[in-house]
Amino acid sequence: MYRPKNKSYCILNKQYTKEEYESLIPRIKEHMMTMPYIDQKGRVYKYGEFFPPELSPFAYNETIAQEYFPLTKEEALNQGYRWKDPETKEYQITMKPESLPDHIDTIRDEILKETIGCLHGGTCLHQCTTAFRIIPEELQFYRRMHLPLPRLCPNCRHYERLCQRNPLRLWRRKCMCDKNTHGHEGTCPHTFETSYAPERPELVYCEECYQREVV
Ligand SMILES: [Zn+2]
Ligand SMILES: [Zn+2]
Ligand SMILES: [Zn+2]
Ligand SMILES: [Zn+2]
Repeated sequence: MYRPKNKSYCILNKQYTKEEYESLIPRIKEHMMTMPYIDQKGRVYKYGEFFPPELSPFAYNETIAQEYFPLTKEEALNQGYRWKDPETKEYQITMKPESLPDHIDTIRDEILKETIGCLHGGTCLHQCTTAFRIIPEELQFYRRMHLPLPRLCPNCRHYERLCQRNPLRLWRRKCMCDKNTHGHEGTCPHTFETSYAPERPELVYCEECYQREVV
């Protein structure tokens, strides 16, 4: 039951007396148990459940949930979430990302008039807008920093950056240190939890070995 901040005996946004509240609550719970909300897939939401996702004003892929727990459209719909399909865009792509020159020095101001296709072409789960333009300030910035032009639309860039972070998951792993100056014989026997997946190329050390090597 939603309770406004620093208030007591409220149900939704309505204030009740202590007595009213205490007699109402058991009746509401009882009602929610005997007449639960049933969603389109037949899932039952009784008292104590989180709100059914189908009542959410937002589609799954419009929320940050899609960034942390990406689902395909089918998966999302199956789990009772809504899905936002890309809007049909009016523009014509005038330049393919593959044909952008590699070096910023060879980019002329005419690029500002182009509608550049996104390299992902809407085939990803990034809410790809399929095309983008370069604005003058942006072009100036790339020139000043000697950066190549992007090949992806801003949404895809955002998701690609997120991929560089370690996932919200821990793996139990063994220390990979084999330094003979640390007092352990052969490889260090310590295990610990880490957000670096076992198949990743990085060496992972336990805290002790890390402190000795790095700090
Ligand atoms: Zn894109
Ligand atoms: Zn993408
Ligand atoms: Zn170690
Ligand atoms: Zn060590």
